[in-house]
Amino acid sequence: MKYLVIHCTATPEGREVSSSEIRRWHTSPPPSGRGWKQVGYTDMIHLDGRVERMVDNNEDANVDPWEVTNGAAGYNSVSRHIVYVGGCDKHMKPKDTRTEAQKEALKRYVRDFHERFPQVKIVGHHELNPGKACPSFDVAAWLRSIGIRQ
Ligand SMILES: [Zn+2]
Repeated sequence: MKYLVIHCTATPEGREVSSSEIRRWHTSPPPSGRGWKQVGYTDMIHLDGRVERMVDNNEDANVDPWEVTNGAAGYNSVSRHIVYVGGCDKHMKPKDTRTEAQKEALKRYVRDFHERFPQVKIVGHHELNPGKACPSFDVAAWLRSIGIRQ
């Protein structure tokens, strides 16, 4: 594993999204979905800060084939992808919509992750794919603000 990639669901501020919706968007055949064989994220952080596991993971430093999620083409075999619900304003423009509970949950998550896997770089999706705004906030600056140096 080389990257922990942070994403947003690219849904409007304040709107909850269920894991089954995300799974359907990603894995249903086109045109209703993207037709991927696996959903894009391992864990999902809901508006209330609840962390939901979407794809099994044995929490070791290797990305086993059954752990692969499809969050960023070209990086999936060496990445874990996580997502927070939100990331857009009501006009669907990129916006950091993280609730206080989501910020707390994400902070706990990345601190714990960084402690266990200090060699794994934590990035925002757009750092791997500059064409994307995802996750709608500056991950490097936020990591510094919570005391994670990498
Ligand atoms: Zn993304």
